[in-house]
Amino acid sequence: MKTIGIIGGGQLGLMIAEEARRLGVRTVALDPAPDAPAFAVCDERIVAPYDDAAALEELCRRSDAVTYEFENVPGGVLVPLAEKYNIPQGFRPLYDSQDRLREKENAWAHGFETPAYAAVDDEAGLRRAVAQLGYPCVLKTRTLGYDGHGQAVLRSEADLDKALPLLAVPCILEAFVDFDYEASLVMVADGERVVTFPVGRNVHRDGILDLCFVPAEGLSPELTARMRATGEAFMRACGYTGILAVELFVKGDRFWFNEMAPRPHNSGHWTIEGCSTNQYRELVRYLTGEPLEEPRQTAPAVMKNILGRDLEAARAIAAEGGDGVHVHLYGKSESRPLRKMGHITFTDMTAEKYAARWAERFEQ
Ligand code: AMP
Repeated sequence: MKTIGIIGGGQLGLMIAEEARRLGVRTVALDPAPDAPAFAVCDERIVAPYDDAAALEELCRRSDAVTYEFENVPGGVLVPLAEKYNIPQGFRPLYDSQDRLREKENAWAHGFETPAYAAVDDEAGLRRAVAQLGYPCVLKTRTLGYDGHGQAVLRSEADLDKALPLLAVPCILEAFVDFDYEASLVMVADGERVVTFPVGRNVHRDGILDLCFVPAEGLSPELTARMRATGEAFMRACGYTGILAVELFVKGDRFWFNEMAPRPHNSGHWTIEGCSTNQYRELVRYLTGEPLEEPRQTAPAVMKNILGRDLEAARAIAAEGGDGVHVHLYGKSESRPLRKMGHITFTDMTAEKYAARWAERFEQ
């Protein structure tokens, strides 16, 4: 029986471990929190910080293949381990995504369009970049930003002062894209094939993914085909294998690369019940050397993220049960209003049906 090591024991690690178990694969996870969600399901646990080289080595020793669900694993720790143990995705896709400037340069170099951008290191540089890109624009820290943290939208001169605190660290200024909607491409590559999950429409609230509608209304087959072709060519040109999620802005028949993460993605949770195979399962198949399966959507789906503020509503919906209502609660011991506590996938569900039947159950 094979064992997969997972760096990170959050909800993504939990769902990797659940799929691994269904496929008869053991898991061992490493996380600093003793009550990390994945620990409830995986076969072995290592409680240690992400930069604990000895603990990470122990994880590698116990595993046939190692993956990560946490994207800020430091290269200084991972690179030497990747030389000695089987970490098939390696450090490259993490390295390419850990700095927003490098990430956008890499996206451009390998076939994606991105919003116009400029590196910004100080106030004078910010003024120069604003003069070049114009308002509105978005200032973001180059590293460690997530879910809208570490960024500010600048709409006029009056917003410049508010943004200055961000410049304590190197930043990037991006042109603001007045997109129709956001979407993501979740791909898994094994060195020969690249499989891509159906593309949905992502809706954010408070900077956090709130809803995902699949298929995305208004997304033409032609545009979907171009997104998939660009994503696949990108994977091949970068030489990436394993899983990669690319977030896109979509307007009319154009799309732009926003950011990427070499791990399963929140917008892909719906694949567990709405697709012939799911993002976690294909990642496990890749890690264990099984041939990849091309995903096929089996039902229209809506995924609702459950943050702390909607936890009670989600528990009530779980208790009611019902066809096509799939409630996942991650078992986190502490709930906070904006913490991701679970998600619900509604299958055989459209945006209209969701708005009429379910939206009012959650905080508006
Ligand atoms: P990020 O952390 O880069 O994914 O940004 C968080 C959210 O901010 C995105 O999901 C978008 O809704 C918004 N955003 C980020 N960058 C831009 C941009 N260049 N133009 C418009 N909206 C943006």
